[in-house]
Amino acid sequence: MLEVEGLRAGYGAINVLWDVSLAAQPGRLTAIIGPNGAGKTTLLRAIMGLIPATSGQVRLHGAPLGGTPTWDMAAAGVAMIPEGRMIFRDMSVEENLIVGAFPAAHRAHARERLEASYAMFPRLRERRRQLAGALSGGEAQMLALARGLMSDPRLLIVDEPSLGLAPVMVTELFDILARLKREGRTIVLVEQNTERAVAIADHVYLMQTGKVVLSQPADQVSLPDLHRLYFSR
Ligand code: ATP
Repeated sequence: MLEVEGLRAGYGAINVLWDVSLAAQPGRLTAIIGPNGAGKTTLLRAIMGLIPATSGQVRLHGAPLGGTPTWDMAAAGVAMIPEGRMIFRDMSVEENLIVGAFPAAHRAHARERLEASYAMFPRLRERRRQLAGALSGGEAQMLALARGLMSDPRLLIVDEPSLGLAPVMVTELFDILARLKREGRTIVLVEQNTERAVAIADHVYLMQTGKVVLSQPADQVSLPDLHRLYFSR
């Protein structure tokens, strides 16, 4: 569904990604793991068109995405949940969700999607009139995820959703990701929580200093080997 081939990108004169290639298969969860500064977020930014690629290609359903403006990605069926949640703190939970249904094609179904969100995240229904800024970290992460789902994406890209969450919320979050996968959505998950990521993934990529250093089906991953590689910079 999503293919990245030989991607090079960075910030101005600083190159970060060195010929990164990977693929996310439809209906599968692809995990991208790696230490701080490995280039995971930069990779997601380049996929979303937020930074230009200096070489290589990103393809969605076989068609090159290069030049697709970021704001057209939702219409293409892609949603990204950025690291740090990026919710509108001064808006209510429900207003945050409605903003997620922004592309014209999805606005018509906003009410329906809102109901689907509340069915999946009952706590958000309870707090729908509350300001998003008053949510706990875990609830804010759920809101960010629910907002991304408002456009009913086929491809969901999630950047470090478990960061800073209490273990019980991490479990809840991974349960939701598993459920989204069962619904047939394609998920690309960037995570530092290696064990959890490997447990839920179908395929695992390990990135280090801007390169993919391991690509393996999740059921073949040996955690001790992975950890050795992870810390072997
Ligand atoms: P983390 O898990 O800490 O978010 P990451 O794997 O997502 O790490 P990136 O955030 O992609 O890594 O960072 C990769 C490299 O790019 C780092 O060396 C970082 O300093 C650099 N970098 C990130 N953002 C910028 C920016 N806006 N301008 C210049 N360099 C940047």
